Amino acid sequence: MQLYNSLSHKKEDFIPREAGKVGMYTCGPTVYHYAHIGNLRSYIMEDILEKYLRFTGLDVKRVMNITDVGHLTSDGDTGDDKMLKGAKREHKTVMEIAKFYTDAFFADCAKLNIKTPDVVVPATTYIDEFIKVISSLMEKGYAYEAGGNIYFDTSKLDKYYVFGDLSEEDLEVGVREGVEADGNKRNKADFVLWFTKSKFDDQELKWESPWGVGYPGWHIECSCISMKNLGEYLDLHCGGIDNAFPHHTNEIAQSEAYLGHKWCNYWFHVHHLNTTSGKMSKSKGEFLTVSLLEEKGYDPLVYRFFCLNSHYRKSLVFSWENLDNAAVSFNKLIDRIVPLTKEAAGDIDQTEYDRLRKSFDDALGNDMNTSLAVTAVYDVLKSGANASTKLALLRDFDTVLGLDLIKKAQEKADAAENSAADIPAEVLELVEQRKAARKEKNFALADELRDKITALGYEVKETRQGTEINKL
Ligand code: AMP
Ligand code: ZN
Repeated sequence: MQLYNSLSHKKEDFIPREAGKVGMYTCGPTVYHYAHIGNLRSYIMEDILEKYLRFTGLDVKRVMNITDVGHLTSDGDTGDDKMLKGAKREHKTVMEIAKFYTDAFFADCAKLNIKTPDVVVPATTYIDEFIKVISSLMEKGYAYEAGGNIYFDTSKLDKYYVFGDLSEEDLEVGVREGVEADGNKRNKADFVLWFTKSKFDDQELKWESPWGVGYPGWHIECSCISMKNLGEYLDLHCGGIDNAFPHHTNEIAQSEAYLGHKWCNYWFHVHHLNTTSGKMSKSKGEFLTVSLLEEKGYDPLVYRFFCLNSHYRKSLVFSWENLDNAAVSFNKLIDRIVPLTKEAAGDIDQTEYDRLRKSFDDALGNDMNTSLAVTAVYDVLKSGANASTKLALLRDFDTVLGLDLIKKAQEKADAAENSAADIPAEVLELVEQRKAARKEKNFALADELRDKITALGYEVKETRQGTEINKL
């Protein structure tokens, strides 16, 4: 497949290091609150990527961390501790908060058909690993102690890799975010590996380390969890675009300093979901969660469908109106699949199957063009292929799209059949007579029969899928 690589700023052929196998790492959630649907846009698109790689026959091992320690409100190691903030807000311990929101995250993922990665590691379970890597960075001269904390020294690198064309000013993250800069840092871009002198007197989680009792910085967790589970060469690293700097830049710095060679070949970044008023936030305005969508009557998979209709490298604007439009299109799509579930099975037409599958494959193979992949679904429905071929293709595509296309169509077909079972024989007989009248173009009689049906408390409608009978 061709994939845009943030490292080289261009589309490249995706070639895993070991033929047939992919090591894939995803930055997981910070579990101090519910994930908002912006966070989940990133996880949906990463899920599609993983499933597409599997679709092409690759054996993917995917690893994700859970950030339950070390993430401060500013990515530049300043501000408040996010987990502590969550615990104070809810008068609970940090570990209680972590457990609750980790479970909530996976419950949301399940509703969105996002597969759980093969390996999921809470950062608090890997403290020894962090200490091992930080010790090695100290020995190699890439880290120093200042003011009680351990920092990574970015001036020791040949190149401090920054994705995109960020300026010197952008590198002053702390200053940019209006928070006091950390005077212990030798260089502006240096970052914390281990906080020993915590500025939070009430820091709940602390561990012994060679540098005193403390806790890890945020960036070290992803490098260590990835290297431990996927080895010293990583094929693919994913995250939302806000993770690109400084988080991913710092992951590269410390991993490559530790390993002594290049670490990860491809970097995949999903652009943001914004609201009409700007950046999506957990603290401002309406907190958009999967539960809120459900409370408002939306099927979570409508949100997945909404995300699929735009490219992951473009920011996407969320509005209720846009979601409504997605809901209408999604329902219409399912309605078009309903008749296929009832048609008799035939042999699969291999030529048509291969042709239509190729257009789906080409769409996703071209830097994951999900909206064209959805178009390929419509192309299947429009095609002259028989019902079995169409169903087989939809089943195949849905292993990547994750929209439950056939399951939903089947449910709709069953619901329609069940409701037909409740309709009195007298009404069904009148409906049959009306059908015959319409066939003979005797519309006066058809109208008369419709009135009789209405008088019995039923409504009869002609739709694309045939005659529909509903109770009034
Ligand atoms: P966090 O829980 O803050 O660590 O973020 C979890 C994931 O969501 C990370 O990959 C972020 O880059 C990503 N993310 C944060 N905000 C958004 C957004 N508005 N749209 C898409 N992805 C986001
Ligand atoms: Zn990460």
